[in-house]
Amino acid sequence: MKAVVKYAKGKGFVEVRDVPEPQPGPGEVRIRVEYAGICASDLHILNDDIAITIRPPVVMGHEFSGTIDRLGDGVEGWSAGDRVVAEASYEVCGACRYCASGFYNLCGSRKVLGYWHDGAFARYTVVPARRLHRLPAGISFKAGALIEPTACVVHGVCELITIGPHDVVLVTGPGAIGLTALQVAKAAGATVVVSGTADDRARLELAAKLGADATVDVSTGDLAKTVHDLTAGRGVDVVVECAGNDRAVRSALDALRKQGQFLQLGLLGRDMQLAFDAIVYKELKVTGSLSSRDVSWRRAIELVERGDVRPEVLVSGEYPLDDWEEAFRMHAGRKGLKILFKPE
Ligand SMILES: [Zn+2]
Ligand SMILES: [Zn+2]
Repeated sequence: MKAVVKYAKGKGFVEVRDVPEPQPGPGEVRIRVEYAGICASDLHILNDDIAITIRPPVVMGHEFSGTIDRLGDGVEGWSAGDRVVAEASYEVCGACRYCASGFYNLCGSRKVLGYWHDGAFARYTVVPARRLHRLPAGISFKAGALIEPTACVVHGVCELITIGPHDVVLVTGPGAIGLTALQVAKAAGATVVVSGTADDRARLELAAKLGADATVDVSTGDLAKTVHDLTAGRGVDVVVECAGNDRAVRSALDALRKQGQFLQLGLLGRDMQLAFDAIVYKELKVTGSLSSRDVSWRRAIELVERGDVRPEVLVSGEYPLDDWEEAFRMHAGRKGLKILFKPE
């Protein structure tokens, strides 16, 4: 079968290859992939600048939806034909303090689909049955491919910080993650401001359509003034930083009220300078968020099923595997939002 393979460490070394169809081992299922999404981290795998361990040659892709096609020995509760999505945490130790407390997303032995184990940029992929989640009939395969990034947002926004109906939330960076964070915060009843740059004009318009109470293009608009007006000078209660750049982090820290919560979802990929004392003077709570876990997936599926989060509106292109370079270029050039492969 055709697959997009990272075949060696270093910058580049990705190509479409003909690889053997995978077979499910004990406790595993084989899934016929319907759609697989390109994630920002796939570009980091291409460029080999991500801290998550890869094991080339490996089939890339960790965000996908599909149908169970074969069951390995000992799999119960699942049948061929079931519509499913699956967590990317393919392998964890099961014994460390993080695994024991359900935070296996932080397990030091975690091996990820599409990084270490062959992933979903292919006709078939194999995952452990315990990482499966049923895709309800009301959720399309296209939307299903975006449950993974939705679950990552849910983990941060719903599990690591608290957002209530009286909160004003600033989401910086209106990419697929930011626009999902917007929808999750709106579902919690919050007032939400979304900020972006001149390149983000279309994305900010989409943010407004998805329920943002205010949007600010920081190249022409005044974020501080918008926040001042919305909060009677108090500052926002919560920041969800999805832009992953210095300027957004600094302006978000400035916009935050005393005792506010700061959630870092975006990766900067480099060091930055920061007036770190602001955290002391304002008694801020600062947290990061990595990947997702079982409960995040359950909640993400509920949010999508209820229509509180609409992942389909973020899909801006669909490509065959053969056109992976063009698809990656579209993503890297920030043309559109979420790009999907439809494996042939
Ligand atoms: Zn991802
Ligand atoms: Zn562990």
